Amino acid sequence: MISWLKGMLQSNALTPAPAPAAAQPLPGDKTLARQLALVIDLNVCVGCHACVTSCKEWNDGGAAGPLSDQNARGANPSGTFFNRVQTYEAGSFPLTETIHFPKSCLHCEDPPCVPVCPTGASYKRAEDGIVLVDADKCIGCKYCAWACPYGAREMDPSAKVMTKCTLCADRIDDVRLPVAERQPACVLACPTNARLFGDVHDPDSLVSRAIAERGGQPLMPEWGTRPANRYLPRRGLGPDDGDAAPGGRG
Ligand code: SF4
Ligand code: SF4
Repeated sequence: MISWLKGMLQSNALTPAPAPAAAQPLPGDKTLARQLALVIDLNVCVGCHACVTSCKEWNDGGAAGPLSDQNARGANPSGTFFNRVQTYEAGSFPLTETIHFPKSCLHCEDPPCVPVCPTGASYKRAEDGIVLVDADKCIGCKYCAWACPYGAREMDPSAKVMTKCTLCADRIDDVRLPVAERQPACVLACPTNARLFGDVHDPDSLVSRAIAERGGQPLMPEWGTRPANRYLPRRGLGPDDGDAAPGGRG
């Protein structure tokens, strides 16, 4: 993972990434007409964990919720977080920088977690591409967790069913909410607007334009899962950038 981050950082510094065209459905292709996803700007994520705690709060329901953290600082911590922020140091001393890297389910377009499920509990929602788990069908076998190469699935130790980021599908689907609030809790909470949300198959959407204009990249594309989420790479290391000295930006 660290090498992937360094590679993305360095390649972006030297050569602007080509602007990828928004994926379009092809006849007979498995690609869905609509694919909701997150686009995360690594330039402005400050690692504050507001997205982590808002996700936890919304999906966990507070101290009385079902996804409790047990023995969080003990030898065998048990905790359920659908969204985590990992922090890395990139570069070589003294030209190093800190990268905060939020990661949750990437809502892959070819999700290996889905076909391995023996009960059909794990599925990709046809209308918008969100990958979900039907708790009523899940038997807690963890096949999907083993199949996911990103470690994005979380076992609920209380209910003994698999859980994961749903992009807050309950918020998206809730017509009682104002339209502006029908978004993932993490997106609404982020104080730096590092998290964008929308349809990455609509070339005119905010997320598609961000991907096209700023070289949005999938995480570990060589794994063949076609992640729907994208990351906007860090800028500023190249000699042509405004603050040319590596590590010179704030
Ligand atoms: Fe499945 Fe993992 Fe991809 Fe999410 S990130 S869709 S859990 S393979
Ligand atoms: Fe399917 Fe649940 Fe087993 Fe995952 S843990 S493969 S969702 S039955």
